[in-house]
Amino acid sequence: MNDRSGSKPGYGQNQASQLPRIVILGAGFGGLTCARALQAAPAEVTLVDQRNFHLFQPLLYQVATAALSPADIATPIRRILRNQINAKVVLGHVEAIDRQERTVRLRENGRLVAYDILVIATGARHSYFGHEDWEAFAPGLKQIEDALDIRNRVLDALERAEATEDADERQRLLSFAVIGGGPTGVELAGAIAELAKIELAQESRTMHGLAAHIVLIEAGPQILPVFVPSLADKARRSLEQLGVEVLTNSMVEHCDSEGVIAAGKRIEARTLIWAAGVAASPAAQWLDVEPDRAGRVRVLGDLSLPGDPTVFVIGDTAAVYRPDGRPVPGIAPAAKQEGNYVAELLLRRLNGSVSIDGRGGAAGMQAQPEFHYHHAGDLATIGHKSAVLDFGWIRLSGLLAWLLWGCVHIFFLISFRNRMVVMLGWLWSYFASDRGARLITGSGREL
Ligand SMILES: Cc1cc2nc3c(=O)[nH]c(=O)nc-3n(C[C@H](O)[C@H](O)[C@H](O)COP(=O)(O)OP(=O)(O)OC[C@H]3O[C@@H](n4cnc5c(N)ncnc54)[C@H](O)[C@@H]3O)c2cc1C
Repeated sequence: MNDRSGSKPGYGQNQASQLPRIVILGAGFGGLTCARALQAAPAEVTLVDQRNFHLFQPLLYQVATAALSPADIATPIRRILRNQINAKVVLGHVEAIDRQERTVRLRENGRLVAYDILVIATGARHSYFGHEDWEAFAPGLKQIEDALDIRNRVLDALERAEATEDADERQRLLSFAVIGGGPTGVELAGAIAELAKIELAQESRTMHGLAAHIVLIEAGPQILPVFVPSLADKARRSLEQLGVEVLTNSMVEHCDSEGVIAAGKRIEARTLIWAAGVAASPAAQWLDVEPDRAGRVRVLGDLSLPGDPTVFVIGDTAAVYRPDGRPVPGIAPAAKQEGNYVAELLLRRLNGSVSIDGRGGAAGMQAQPEFHYHHAGDLATIGHKSAVLDFGWIRLSGLLAWLLWGCVHIFFLISFRNRMVVMLGWLWSYFASDRGARLITGSGREL
């Protein structure tokens, strides 16, 4: 059971320990959930991440639009695991995996982390569908740095619009295009509209912010494609009430520093934001397997790599399908369910007749139930007073949906501190219309 397969201890691992080494790559929703669910496992759990914090991505758009500060939605990984004595945290950027030697190589001096079981949960990044050069004009939102970059661009454009005497230049500066009408695009567009047209306009002597033009561009026939059309229509109307122009059936064909071309039409906008697509982390490359079209690793029903029961892939990096053939969506609850599932499977292996690397005989292998995804529902918010919510058995829109959206997000934030800070911040901004994080940081561009 405690098969170490003769491989040597690696960086940060206990030389004397004879416990099986479970190495988890990525401390996002999937990896962190898996690590925590292994709390009672008789194993040495090593969690590797390129960041020293877990990031609550669903609220990243609020950092990008100055409603929250980075630390409100990020928690140090060591703090989360401080009481888990079988867990270690390694800060490092994964750059290769050797499945023969069972080691993970980190970029930092080529350090090696040895494993008996490997769980890959390194998430996804933006995809520009082969137009990577657009990233310079239309940054995506995935990391804290992306959110701060977008915040700087938006606030900087609004300040420049205040400063200029040139009316044409002012209108260009006050034009924002958000590309991609999924939840992130909808949330960003609504929040930018509130920031420019309501909050900043109230504080400015010129009221120029009122003229801000925010356009949300979606390639498909409706925004929020996972929602039923009636809720998507309500979201669209809420956005329009905030002054957002919504364009559907408008595939973006070109981006540059002054705007985009969508469905053959030129749209001028000095600030572009990309919320249109994601591609999996390069795990398929590390594993030397053929990825699917979104770059994800195809896995078996137990989330292991075909032909290698020592490697599991979960979350946004894995291509997982439901019994009816629909893909499991790339959302946080799916990653968490997968993390829990793999932890339970490993606990069964550790406590049962199958060896930790799953090579304990056909009978034991067959006993593992397959992963089954449970979809609780979909949520998206529009500004800070409206949302749409579809839990299947109940569909809501407006303020009540927004209150539920807020409760769900507070509940799922990782630490008590984050929950309190975010809740108080929201209450303050709801009643005082005051965004506490409206800072232009970094070296700044000269006005
Ligand atoms: C802006 C935004 C908004 C979202 N909103 C929602 C929402 O409202 N609701 C919802 O359910 N889902 C939402 N999602 C999707 C959700 O965040 C993802 O589905 C979820 O985070 C996937 O979990 P994961 O564990 O696969 O990856 P992640 O949570 O992305 O974690 C991956 C981890 O791997 C680390 N990592 C990556 N590469 C390396 C490497 N080479 N070496 C070391 N470490 C590495 C990263 O630092 C990160 O900590 C949103 C995503 C984004 C970007």
